[in-house]
Amino acid sequence: MTAPLFDSHLHTPLCGHATGAPREYAQAALDAGLAGLCFTDHMPMPTWYDAPWRMRANQLAQYVEEVRAVQAEFSGRLDVRLGLEADFHPGTERFVEGVLSAYPWDYVIGSVHYLGAWGFDNPEYVAEYEARDLRELYGDYYALVEGAARSGLFDAIGHLDLPKKFGHVDTDGLAALHALDVIAERGLALDFNTAGWRKPVAEAYPAPDLTRAAASRGIPFVLGSDAHRPDEVGHRFDDALKQIHDVGGRTVTYQGRVRHG
Ligand SMILES: [Zn+2]
Ligand SMILES: [Zn+2]
Repeated sequence: MTAPLFDSHLHTPLCGHATGAPREYAQAALDAGLAGLCFTDHMPMPTWYDAPWRMRANQLAQYVEEVRAVQAEFSGRLDVRLGLEADFHPGTERFVEGVLSAYPWDYVIGSVHYLGAWGFDNPEYVAEYEARDLRELYGDYYALVEGAARSGLFDAIGHLDLPKKFGHVDTDGLAALHALDVIAERGLALDFNTAGWRKPVAEAYPAPDLTRAAASRGIPFVLGSDAHRPDEVGHRFDDALKQIHDVGGRTVTYQGRVRHG
């Protein structure tokens, strides 16, 4: 890895399903030769939404403090930034807006994790895929992604083709291309998320053909490991860069919600 690299999708134990102190993630980034990282833990949502998988509203200040402490500790050695992985779920936009205006975030990812009440990326509910028509599922999913892009709340779309996580790949692709048109038009970036390489689908988000389609629309990529443990920081970034550069794509980072690079 030659150019200065950032890992801009990282979690902390505050979300309830990650391990390792924030400073251990920063140390792992240093050890991996990265120039910086941006913590993007699962943001608080209204109490009725996905509560076990995210920090509570009254933990938000602690999250910011913890990231600030790591920033101070690694100052001059590693560029540590403060972000969030937000959820796009119709009806919660105003709540999300409130959280986003509460602190000066560097970078906000907008992710779709639910189709209605179904947390489709939760291994516990994977059987539901058998009850669904995949084409319809992807149509519904990408309609939500377009809603996320149009909301104006986010800098990037998280793990674009997430419903493929357990191997249920999109064989049609039209809805995805339409979503990419909207993402390009609204000026968002894509989270290039290497966690997919650690899942049954064994493919990063987005897939190579969607990486090409995004690059051809001028959509930039933000590298992220989606680490939930320190040893996942910077996971397969060489492969990620190859997939992006092979199709003429480029990577960027965000600071103060402004795009760099
Ligand atoms: Zn998570
Ligand atoms: Zn996510």
